[in-house]
Amino acid sequence: MSTASTTVSKRTRSQEAFTQAQKLMPGGVNSPVRAYKSVGGTPPFIQKAQGSYVWDIDENQYIDYIGSWGPAILGHGHPQVVEAVQQTAEKGLSFGAPTLLESELAQAVIDRVPSIEKVRFVNSGTEAVMSAVRLARAYTGREKIIKFAGCYHGHSDYLLVKAGSGALTLGVPDSPGVPKATANETLIATFNDLASVKALLNEHGPHIAGILVEPVAGNMGCIPPEPGFLEGLRSLANEFGALLLFDEVMTGFRVALGGAQQRYEVMPDITMLGKIVGGGMPVGAYGGKAEIMSHVAPEGSMYQAGTLSGNPLGMAAGLKTLELISAPDFYTNLESKTEALSQGVADICRQKGIPACITQVGSMWTVFFTDAKVTDFDTAMTSDRDRFTKYFWSMLDAGIYLAPSPFEAAFVSAAHTQVDIDETLKAVEKSL
Ligand SMILES: *Cc1c(COP(=O)(O)O)cnc(C)c1O
Repeated sequence: MSTASTTVSKRTRSQEAFTQAQKLMPGGVNSPVRAYKSVGGTPPFIQKAQGSYVWDIDENQYIDYIGSWGPAILGHGHPQVVEAVQQTAEKGLSFGAPTLLESELAQAVIDRVPSIEKVRFVNSGTEAVMSAVRLARAYTGREKIIKFAGCYHGHSDYLLVKAGSGALTLGVPDSPGVPKATANETLIATFNDLASVKALLNEHGPHIAGILVEPVAGNMGCIPPEPGFLEGLRSLANEFGALLLFDEVMTGFRVALGGAQQRYEVMPDITMLGKIVGGGMPVGAYGGKAEIMSHVAPEGSMYQAGTLSGNPLGMAAGLKTLELISAPDFYTNLESKTEALSQGVADICRQKGIPACITQVGSMWTVFFTDAKVTDFDTAMTSDRDRFTKYFWSMLDAGIYLAPSPFEAAFVSAAHTQVDIDETLKAVEKSL
């Protein structure tokens, strides 16, 4: 493996593979963002990944800032994680019966995430949020949920809703197939705007089961919570008898070992996890106070189940990952590397007079090409998409693998080296 990225020469095999895949699967992919629609063109087909690198089927090497969209905090294919999965696989892939590995991962999660006393494992972030919302409704006997414009919580019906231009409107479905009646149970507030939440609570208070938020927004690009925002949500939830739900599918084990709740010292009632908790395998989880979790079947009556939930391979990968990220200084090192990178990009933008708002929390960061200070969905949308598209392709051709959308967080992993960061900054210098 070379230590520096190579300049990409061609992607002809990926082009052929993409044409073929489109005949077999809608858009040629199994998750829409992979199809590169927002930047146009052909996604590289990946054949392997190791550490901070991915390789496409044309043998091009890239420095990877997608990290499988979040899970790869240790870098790809960490030998100890791979070994844990291999050893577990030899004993069988799935039993649909209780295993020790489930209790071990449950304990590891409870030890690390401050507000979780009991946890249930599922198979994806979508499932975790869908189940947590059901639990909030079962627990409160209320039906409406407040979410924030631009926050993504997976693809379940009532969460596929964002605001129109007016913030305090009833939800309209983002996708055909989502019943209007379902979408109407979802109310949309503005991220970092407590008044917008208060207004919804004043109008619908007795019907609000929960306030659902990404404590650091990551799915409209990385947007940190303003000081007081999460604390304000906590006290509004208390005041109106609603639960506070932190969707930490992205931020869990990412912005701190204990997630955003530890970093900002605000405790939700229910926490949702995904991505890193499975160490690259399909695992999600939701958890909270034992009293709330006691409502989940079979202890309680809120039904939720899964044939492959808690499967040994996912548990083994998650367990080894949580062990490795608990090393002393793991997060300080990750964060200072990410700071060097994001500051470097900020310096380049300043020198070239390019309007840019660069956000960073821990090892999550985003470059918004805008003069505005990005604090919510509307300000995120001011980002210059044409400039991003040119930047994106130039970076890809320079061997830097970024998410193909201006509204995504980039991730730095423990495997990224100073050489990777220098290479990346050189590519940024050329691309802007
Ligand atoms: C990725 C993500 C989800 C969905 O998780 P999947 O595993 O893709 O279903 C939900 N919420 C947040 C905050 C996410 O980042």
